[in-house]
Amino acid sequence: MLWILTPGAGILFATAALSVMLAGLAWGRSAQPQWRFFPFLMLGVAGWCLASGLEASFVPLAWKLFWAKLEYVGSGSAATLLLLFAARYSGQDRWVRGARQLVVWVLPAVSVGLAGTNEFHHLVWAVFSPGPAGTNSLIYHHGAGYFAVVVWIYAYLLSACALLVKSALRSPPGRRRQVAMILLAVAFPSTAGILYSLGDSLVPGLNLVPVSFALTAVVLLVGMGLFRVLDLVPFARDTLIERMPDGIIVVDAHRRVVDANGAAARFLGARSSLVGRDIGAVWGDWSKLDLSCPSGEERHIEITLSREPLLHVDVRMTPLHEPGQRAAGCLIVMRNITTRYEAETSLQRANERLRDDVRRIEALQTELTDQAIRDSLTGLFNRRYLDEILPRELARAAREKSVVSVVMIDIDHFKETNDRRGHREGDRLLSLFGTLLRERTRPGDVACRYGGEEFLLVLPGASLEIARDRMEAIRNECSLRLHAEGFAQPPTLSAGVAAFPEHAGSDDELLQAADEALYRAKAEGRDRVCVAGAGS
Ligand code: GH3
Ligand code: MG
Ligand code: MG
Repeated sequence: MLWILTPGAGILFATAALSVMLAGLAWGRSAQPQWRFFPFLMLGVAGWCLASGLEASFVPLAWKLFWAKLEYVGSGSAATLLLLFAARYSGQDRWVRGARQLVVWVLPAVSVGLAGTNEFHHLVWAVFSPGPAGTNSLIYHHGAGYFAVVVWIYAYLLSACALLVKSALRSPPGRRRQVAMILLAVAFPSTAGILYSLGDSLVPGLNLVPVSFALTAVVLLVGMGLFRVLDLVPFARDTLIERMPDGIIVVDAHRRVVDANGAAARFLGARSSLVGRDIGAVWGDWSKLDLSCPSGEERHIEITLSREPLLHVDVRMTPLHEPGQRAAGCLIVMRNITTRYEAETSLQRANERLRDDVRRIEALQTELTDQAIRDSLTGLFNRRYLDEILPRELARAAREKSVVSVVMIDIDHFKETNDRRGHREGDRLLSLFGTLLRERTRPGDVACRYGGEEFLLVLPGASLEIARDRMEAIRNECSLRLHAEGFAQPPTLSAGVAAFPEHAGSDDELLQAADEALYRAKAEGRDRVCVAGAGS
């Protein structure tokens, strides 16, 4: 007979099938890096159970040996994948990343080699003897090689256990339960291994070690959160996190991304999952961002990503703490604020434009007001301004019991200058005289162009004498300056001076008095200053 299905083999086949199912179940999860090795671990266990079941079922010794050798492929890969899973899950997998992973595969490869070549050295199995009658089992009398294999498998098992316990102690919620689960998970193969080594088996022909590995995997799955609450309600996670427009990243204390949604990947322009990667590496063109989450307050910054179109992002970083206040990581929430930012910026620009316009309008207004009260040729005030200012000055002088003198000036024979030198030169002369008057008036005095070649000085606080003296000084200087400006025979000036309240009680009367004094100066032969009221 070639083949008998014993109860032990049946259990092994069932476990193999269960392991394949678990591998399929875990496959969906393996997109997350920490679960990547898990489906392979389950396939390793499945292969081990299958080989073990076939070893128990086949009758001829040669076949039994063949399957027993294949069991070493299953046991070696299951133990190694468990270690790799633990290293990756706990985030302590630097030493087995990339090509370095090959190092941990050396021992299983040597074990398979030893079993495969047993007939040449008998290091794994020294002798075989038939098991109890009716069990179709073969008792393997082990050699030193077998015990070496047991030692490394146990070493891998304990290392995996240590890594998982360490990781569980680091993550706060429910960690006691996790530690208990891990210890329970590792207890199965340990106990089964000891029982097997003692040659004990609950069911004849049943190798409990691969079955116990399957149990380990189930406990790990349940205990370490493969079936977490959010995963039981995948729609809830999708709705809450995955479909959020805000990018969410959770970084652990070692700056490793432990969770991230699709929006976060889009913000960072990442094509593959961010989970498991170092945040510094995924940050890309955000690398200048200070990502430290110092214990304490939440931080938030606004950054602009230089891509087309420009993206403005509000990044909020909230430190995550364990109950004992140890920093456990950082929650990063990224929000696209481009619309708000652009609205704010255009509002700001519109405000600035408006402010500029207001400034321009104010300047224009000042200029217009100035133009309205000034004479364009001489730059002196015009008659309109005089009509406005003179009554005010007289009212103030009346209030303060002060005086206001006015001087009316007329350029003598100006018509001749025009006729002789041309109208343009006449204009230049008027302009030069205007400048002289502006320079000779003090703050508070008002110099204005009263008519064609007639000017008026309003000198608040100046007595009649002072006004006359100032006019005499102007007359002298005018002659000198015009001479210097190319007027070989500069025209002389006649002026009439009057004072308020001495000669008049109102602005009209005051101008009238000054005009009369000027008329007198003309009549007396020009080129002089006459004072109102003083008879000739
Ligand atoms: P008088 O000594 O009696 O004052 O003689 P006058 O020639 O100065 O006086 P008159 O009133 O006869 O002539 C004034 C002249 O001033 C006539 C006019 O052509 C000239 N005039 C008035 N306004 C301007 C001006 O803006 N530019 C120029 N170039 N000439 C002007
Ligand atoms: Mg005149
Ligand atoms: Mg004149």
